[in-house]
Parts: sequence; structure tokens; C-alpha cells
Amino acid sequence: MGVGDRFGQQGEAQLSAFEEARRRGIEVVPVWNKSNREHKTVGTGPESVRREADEAVRVRGWQGSYYVDADHIALDSVDPYIPHSDFFTIDVAAYIGQAAPPDAVRAFTDKHAQRVGTLQIPGIDEPLDVSAARIEQIADTFLLAVQEAGKIYRRIAEQKGAENCIFEVSLDETEKPQTPVDMLFILAAIADEGIPIQTIAPKFTGRFNKGVDYVGDVEQFAKEFEQDLAVVAYAIQELGLPDNLKLSVHSGSDKFSIFEPIRQAINKTGAGLHIKTAGTTWLEELIGLSLGSTEGLELAKQVYVQALDRFDELVEPYTSVIDINRERLPSATAVNAWNGEQFAAALRHVPSDPQFNPDLRQLLHVGYKIAAEMGEGYLGMVRRNAAAVAENVTENILERHLLRIFG
Ligand SMILES: [Zn+2]
Repeated sequence: MGVGDRFGQQGEAQLSAFEEARRRGIEVVPVWNKSNREHKTVGTGPESVRREADEAVRVRGWQGSYYVDADHIALDSVDPYIPHSDFFTIDVAAYIGQAAPPDAVRAFTDKHAQRVGTLQIPGIDEPLDVSAARIEQIADTFLLAVQEAGKIYRRIAEQKGAENCIFEVSLDETEKPQTPVDMLFILAAIADEGIPIQTIAPKFTGRFNKGVDYVGDVEQFAKEFEQDLAVVAYAIQELGLPDNLKLSVHSGSDKFSIFEPIRQAINKTGAGLHIKTAGTTWLEELIGLSLGSTEGLELAKQVYVQALDRFDELVEPYTSVIDINRERLPSATAVNAWNGEQFAAALRHVPSDPQFNPDLRQLLHVGYKIAAEMGEGYLGMVRRNAAAVAENVTENILERHLLRIFG
């Protein structure tokens, strides 16, 4: 499971959630991830995530494996990550829909012409219809993106050795969900490209907004998810992709309404899963501050008040992954009158709590830039409230994520 930590101070608190899960018989590998976008906003570099992960593992004596994920990297951003990461999320969504050279498309359609017809995939009830035209259409949409992924993969493999890394290809930051037939031929193209992919992040149906629950048709999601699992299992057999190829769910934090269908599907099939929950640890820091001390609460309020003022600027890089109703955002005056419990209850993701405010939560989710600008003023406050912060960080990962998804 992926965890993120924008300010790099909660590695131990995060790891202790994995330890507790392990004590309860739930083995999950922690993967620390931080995207290029987050590094730029906070002003950190890839080495900081490696340092944090190694240090947390050392201090807590974690015996299991763990990884450091270069999240959403492209050919022009990968280099600084190569020395410090051993998990690479290759993001080629920007190339989806751009046509590959016609002879490459022809070579692909010729190679896979044998798959034209009705395809029966174990685990999918209705047979899939595959026509030559459909394969060509998929190649037109995705082949160039997969070729780009191949370039990035080879650049990393040359420097680091492919066997020392995990490779993920992410297609999630795009408009349209991929169908099972899309997935099958994308995986075929990835196999052709020679990428030993271990996780693939499709775009699923519905909205995966940052820090709040899934918005969409849960039954439809469950069906697609199970179909994608079936396609992955089939692709391992038929395309010679690595045995431990898994689905990866991005923006997976807080998606409470789909955790149960995910849990059932992976338990039923025995499939592995990677789910990224990055980003929410920062909100637990704010919750910990609001409960930890009067000064902590004051600082948390300042972050909110400034975020209100700078709404457009903060929201802009995230428009496709948040939905904030501005009318439901409490005013600065209202929030300034709150006590710590009120602030925590508005922010903490407990949907059944009438005080919970998903609009405030999403705004603060993208408001980390303000805390980053506070620099030591913010970091020092988090350190001074370390116990209250750590308790909330651990509880969020353990109770609201690990146990619900993998329990
Ligand atoms: Zn993603």
C-alpha cells in the first residue's frame, strides 16, 4: 500500500500502522510515494523520501520489505529519482490518444490478429468481442503511450538494473475509463515493449477525488474491478507478464464505499493489490495540531483561512481530482470560533459525523502549499505536537485503510 508524507516527518507513525496490521496477521508492504508535483510544491527532492523511509525502517526495526516510489514520473522528470527510488510509477497519460507511427500500429494489429473473435476470459461472464478494427483503435489510442513507457523503463533499467525495481504503468490521470478489452491490449503492448510490469493503474469508472469517498456507481465499479482482475490474471498466463502483476488503485485513500467490494474481490481471487493512499497524512497532521495544543489549533486555523483566500491558486493543479462546493465552505470567522474538537471533527473523515465537512477537507487537502510556505513555523509546530499527530496518522492508516481493505 502506498503512503505519502508531504512533509516527511511521519514515516515512523505510518510504519507503526503496518506493524500493527502485521501483528493481526495482515501482511502489507509499505511503499512511500511522493509525486513530482508534491516535491515541487513543498520544495523537496527525491532523496528526502528515501531518507525518511530508511530512517523509519531503521528506528522501528521493520523486518519486511518496503519501497520508495517515484510517483507519476515521465521521461523528463525521472532522472533525479533513479538513485533514490526502487518503485517507478511511469505516467504516460499525456500520450494517450496520440497516434503511434502507422507501421508500429500495423505491426501491433498483425501480431495480435490471432486474438480476433470472441474471447472467453475466466472470471468474466460474458465473452469479449474483439474485432480487428477494435485492436487498431486501441493501438491508435494507447500504443504511443506504451512506447513512451518503454523508453522510460529502459532508461531506469540501464542505470539501476530492471531486477532491482518495481515498474508500474499509470493510465489513471485521463478522461475515460479503460474497458477490459482496452486493458488486455494495453497489457499486450506492454509485454511487446518488454516492460516487466508489476502494477498497472487503470482509470476506473467514477470520481476518485482527493481525500474523500468515491463518487459513482459502486456496483459498476465492483464489476469493472473484478473484470480488470480477470484480465490481469489472463494476461499473466497468455502474455508472459510477471506472476505478481497487480492492479493499482490511485487516489485510493478514503474511498470507503469501494473498499468492501475491493476486499471481497481480492479475497475471492487471491489477487494482489496496490493501493495508493498518499496525501491524507498531511490532513492527520492538521487534526493532530488542532487537538494537540492551543498554538497547534491556531496554526491549523491559519492554514484554512489562507486557503480560503487563495482558493483558485490552490485548486488549479488539482481540478480533475477534487470537487469543492464553495458555498459549503465555512467562513474564516466561523472557523476561528471553533475549538480543537470542532476543527478535528470537521476535517476527520468520518462520514457519519454530522460535523464532517468534505468541502473543507478537500480544500485543506490541496492547501499543503500554505504549510510548505510557513516552513519551520509549520514543521516545528508538528514536532511540538508529535504525539497527537502520530496517533492520528497511525489510526487513519490502520483503522480506515489497512484493516478495511486487506482485513
Ligand atoms: Zn495517480
